[in-house]
Amino acid sequence: MFTPGYFRDAADRVFAPRESAVLMAAASGAPIYSPFSTFIGTGIVGGRMPTYIEMGRQAAKAVNALLDGTAPAAVGLPTRIPAEVQIDWRQARRWGVDPNNIPSGAILHFKEPSFWEAHRDAVIITAAVLLLQAGLITALLIERQSRRRTAMALEASQKQMNLAARAARLSTWAWDVGRIENGAAESLRQHAAPQNDQPMAFEHVLETTYPADRADLERAVGKALATGEELDIEYRVLRPDGDVRWVAARGRVEKGNASRLLGVALDVTERKVANLQAAQDRAALRHMTRVSIAGQLSAAIAHQINQPLAAILGNAEAAQKMLASKMVDLADLREICDDIVTEEHRAAEVIRRLSALYKRGDMKVAPLDLNELIRETLELLRTELLIRHVAPLTDLAPALPVVDGGHVQLQQVLLNLILNAADAMNGNVEERKLTIRTEATGAVVRFYVVDNGCGIAADDLKNVFDAFWTTKAAGMGMGLAICKSIIAAHHGSITATNNVEGGAAFCVSLPSGKPA
Ligand code: ADP
Repeated sequence: MFTPGYFRDAADRVFAPRESAVLMAAASGAPIYSPFSTFIGTGIVGGRMPTYIEMGRQAAKAVNALLDGTAPAAVGLPTRIPAEVQIDWRQARRWGVDPNNIPSGAILHFKEPSFWEAHRDAVIITAAVLLLQAGLITALLIERQSRRRTAMALEASQKQMNLAARAARLSTWAWDVGRIENGAAESLRQHAAPQNDQPMAFEHVLETTYPADRADLERAVGKALATGEELDIEYRVLRPDGDVRWVAARGRVEKGNASRLLGVALDVTERKVANLQAAQDRAALRHMTRVSIAGQLSAAIAHQINQPLAAILGNAEAAQKMLASKMVDLADLREICDDIVTEEHRAAEVIRRLSALYKRGDMKVAPLDLNELIRETLELLRTELLIRHVAPLTDLAPALPVVDGGHVQLQQVLLNLILNAADAMNGNVEERKLTIRTEATGAVVRFYVVDNGCGIAADDLKNVFDAFWTTKAAGMGMGLAICKSIIAAHHGSITATNNVEGGAAFCVSLPSGKPA
């Protein structure tokens, strides 16, 4: 149905056209269309409608032109007012108008915007935020899971480490060098604790260290920090109860923290005590050997020399008597003198035979590797040298020819030379350096025992190998004499010199044997 509206009905009732449209729309059984946009909202569906705003605008233009004095003919009639399809969306829905049939440019009135149209921006922003949040939550969950897995793996490996450490009776430590803190009592407790992961100021590590070993530990730690090399040291720890324990510590500088050392420590007291005992036993044995050799030598000398001496004495007394009487029988006197010379030769022979004791002794000669013997001897003396703060260094020539020698005897020479060197360095405040070097030239193999001790007075250099010559209060002066006779028995030589930079050097030369 189409209506322009009415002013009066058949019953002569008067309306504004819009009112009539309202009444008709309410009563109509079909959709109503109209040409006036003012009818939108009365219940009509819509129609092609000119806009009153455009109409007013064109009228105003014409009036303005007339008022400006333009001739009416020139003003002319208004152009055709453009019309637009306008639809009351509610009525179109009510009458079931197919939206596809509504022209695309139509103005739709009373159309509720969809949620999307009304809140497009907010929806987009909210969705973006939600997406971002979901992404973040997922990432966090994944991270948390991987962290948990890492933490579990770490815990498991730490447990294994602790187990292994406990089984090996190892304790871990962390030392902060340069950190100063209070609480020495606490540190003392910590140092003795079996598992100690809390960093500890190195100052307090030193406080709990046996005083005689502090300088060595400090030096070793300083070196490890400066060079990045591994710290490997054995030292004594003073426990709060006064007990002294031996600790073997190994460590390294922590990555990213150049003033912290991390490492493990092992209580090696039992092993040390056993080693020490062995060293003492060896020292006692060495002493006993020397004493017994000296004893045997003097007994043998006394026994063997007594007879020729007694004969010489008897002959000399007889000669004295003869010279006292007036009548001197020259033939007798000659005989007495001959006897004295013979007995003297006998005594000299005894002494020669005694000095050749080692040549006839039960020395077991076999091809031996001097480098190996040196390593073995240093291992025997490890603890003794450690206690005496002597740092042995070796400079052993590779592929050293073997020498034919007595293992026990040559070891005795090495022991004597090394211990003499350690004695000579007793007064050293600075580092006590002992170097053992080997070399081979031609058919001669040499080893040197070099120290940085007190050295030997120039006048004494010629005496050091003499039997019973010593400068030590408790010395016997037999060590080097024995060394000399052992080396002589090996057809070698031994010499003593002073180093230019201080200390003494003993050089032993031996003829090289056939390879073992
Ligand atoms: P002892 O050790 O009983 O004195 P030795 O025959 O072994 O007997 O040594 C004799 C002396 O030689 C020592 O007392 C010492 O004066 C000197 N001597 C030995 N080795 C060294 C050394 N490395 N440095 C300085 N003096 C030494």
